[in-house]
Amino acid sequence: MIGKKADEPLATAKQLPSGAARTAQGSGMTSERTRLRMVVRLREQGIADEVVLAAMSAVPRHLFVDEALATRSYEDTALPIGFGQTISQPWVVARSAELARAGRALSLVLEIGAGCGYQAAILGRLAKEVYTIERIGALAAKARQTLSAIGANNVKVRNADGQEATSNVVQFDAIVVAAGAPSVPPNLPLLLAEGGRLVIPVGAPDRQRLTLVTRSGDSFSQQAFEDVVFVPLKSGQE
Ligand code: SAH
Repeated sequence: MIGKKADEPLATAKQLPSGAARTAQGSGMTSERTRLRMVVRLREQGIADEVVLAAMSAVPRHLFVDEALATRSYEDTALPIGFGQTISQPWVVARSAELARAGRALSLVLEIGAGCGYQAAILGRLAKEVYTIERIGALAAKARQTLSAIGANNVKVRNADGQEATSNVVQFDAIVVAAGAPSVPPNLPLLLAEGGRLVIPVGAPDRQRLTLVTRSGDSFSQQAFEDVVFVPLKSGQE
């Protein structure tokens, strides 16, 4: 007889593609040991906030990239996530989080540019609640899926243009923008709570400075840190 009997199972567990068995533990180049090596490297690169380092050692970064790239997920490099976008390199994620946190326990955090959701997962370990906005619908959906798979239930993903974010009510302790802009979008600092901190890459399309805007009453101060390269902040929604 050619073909399958109707009552034959289509695939046994063993025949399932390996992707179905991807776990937070990982193995080999996606193991916890590999992740801890990444954290050692982050320390050497100057990341000093222990709470941020603990978050970086807890979140399984390999689950946020395509399986074909998973073995490279703990290298200090950005990797493609589709739609011309990238997952930011671990150092940039840790440094942005460190600048945003400034040693404080955070309540409400906004991220603009969720991408695959990795940075949002890290922020979710530093804050009570995280809202992350992604302009590309398909990425937002995928980020939502991965965040739910790792149990990051305090992270909410929205598909919208984050530059347009406004609110009269909600104020954030920290805002992290994960895409580069020629200047600070004017409505974003207004979303900060008193003492709140906004971290955003500011500069040319091919090179920006990681920039911190701090709110004190109605005045805002701006300070530039390291050189970085981010994908551009864009208008509109797809
Ligand atoms: N936070 C990610 C980095 C994603 S790359 C990480 O964890 O590594 C930056 C993301 O910003 C891209 O997915 C891009 O689509 C998104 N983006 C760019 N402009 C945006 C905007 N105005 N509003 C929301 N998302 C935006």
